[in-house]
Amino acid sequence: MRKNIVAGNWKMNKNLQEGVALATELKEIVSNPNCEVIIGTPFIHLATVSELLKDSVIKVSAENCADKVSGAYTGEVSAEMVKSTGAEYCILGHSERRAYYGETYEILKEKVQLALANDLKPIFCIGEVKEEREAGKQNEVVKAQLEGSVFNLSAEDFGKIVLAYEPVWAIGTGLTATPEQAQEIHAYIRGLVAEKYGNEVADNCTILYGGSCNAKNAAGLFANPDIDGGLIGGASLKAEDFKAIIDAF
Ligand code: PEP
Repeated sequence: MRKNIVAGNWKMNKNLQEGVALATELKEIVSNPNCEVIIGTPFIHLATVSELLKDSVIKVSAENCADKVSGAYTGEVSAEMVKSTGAEYCILGHSERRAYYGETYEILKEKVQLALANDLKPIFCIGEVKEEREAGKQNEVVKAQLEGSVFNLSAEDFGKIVLAYEPVWAIGTGLTATPEQAQEIHAYIRGLVAEKYGNEVADNCTILYGGSCNAKNAAGLFANPDIDGGLIGGASLKAEDFKAIIDAF
């Protein structure tokens, strides 16, 4: 059976002290969730927050890793370095990284492989921009993103990744996809996985929804058969808001 997951993505928010305070608060209030809980933090928090949460139910994710193994890449952080902090997951392919940092299908393919080689589980994000949705091209966009960066993986490796469908027009905008819109494309994505890897891998694949998911709309989204949880940006920055989304399961 596939896992349900609620994962936070702090993005470039919280200094170290603020991040430690939020993780401490979450550790206190999240004790017996009905889903796996992950927080995605900036690199600088990873080691401290992983140590802080090591006896809790909350797991830790990076928000990115380098597309190179090691060496003269000033300012980059490798998958091996991320793993050494105690983090278990790594968000890859977020639309902000694709849009602002030029992350191509090829670059993401490298990052996914390096994350897996270092025993990190990628949370791989896909999703269309507003113009693509308006043109009815969302299915072809997510298909190309999967084919470009993760459908090269073996079935065994693909089984280690979590997918996150995040319509770019819904991220940070307050415009959530309706449960029907989200379910429709999640089912399509699961169908693509089934065509490529077979029904068992597809059934076991966790597909999260992301894009202005909050305490009010989470239950309606998570009630759908192909929506296995959420990747949460803004609402993961306050412990009570994040907890309310976790409690939607
Ligand atoms: C995200 O950035 O992954 C996200 C879903 O953001 P928000 O929840 O703020 O829309």
